[in-house]
Formats: sequence, C-alpha cells, structure tokens
Amino acid sequence: AFIVTDNCIKCKYTDCVEVCPVDCFYEGPNFLVIDPDECIDCALCEPECPAEAIFSEDELPAGQEAFVEINADLAGKWPNITEKKDPLPDAEEWDGKPDKLQYLER
Ligand code: SF4
Repeated sequence: AFIVTDNCIKCKYTDCVEVCPVDCFYEGPNFLVIDPDECIDCALCEPECPAEAIFSEDELPAGQEAFVEINADLAGKWPNITEKKDPLPDAEEWDGKPDKLQYLER
C-alpha cells in the first residue's frame, strides 16, 4: 500500500484524494490517511502531493515506519474524503518542518 507520512500533518493538501481510483483516503482534523486494505498500489497519488508526504510502503524514508500502523488504524476511524478542498491555513508554513507526529490530532 501507499502511506501518508509525517509531512502531511498540519498541511493537509488534498490533491491526492481526487486522483485515487478507489477513493481510499480518509480525513482527520489535520492529516489524511490511506486505507491499506483498499489501496491498489496504482501510485497516482504520490506525485500529486505538494508536500511530498506519500510513499510506497516499500520505499518509506527512514524514520517514517510508524505511519504504516497509523494509516491502517485511523483509516478505520475517520470519514472518507474524495473531493479536493483548501489546505489548512498554515500549510505553507508547516510544509517541511520535521517531526510533526507530536501535533497529530486524532
Ligand atoms: Fe489510491 Fe492509488 Fe494512492 Fe493507493 S496508490 S491511495 S489506490 S491513488
């Protein structure tokens, strides 16, 4: 599956959700996740993310391993999102800041 990682937190650009052929993105207050059971590994979403936060599980950057479980867990709790909306107001400011997991709102 593809995994949404740390840099989505506090940005939440939603360009990815529009291209997903199986509508497997789920939305929390300041983060998106992919349901690993629904993702068909098409890779369409990866280049759409302005924050470069989406990776194949097989090519996760070092330190992002925890997001495998986080995506699987929160996909079962959050509502589905299929249409693009505005990013969070401070998205540009937060894009690229390290270690945002501490700010994840569940
Ligand atoms: Fe959806 Fe394809 Fe991205 Fe999986 S890889 S989340 S199926 S767009």
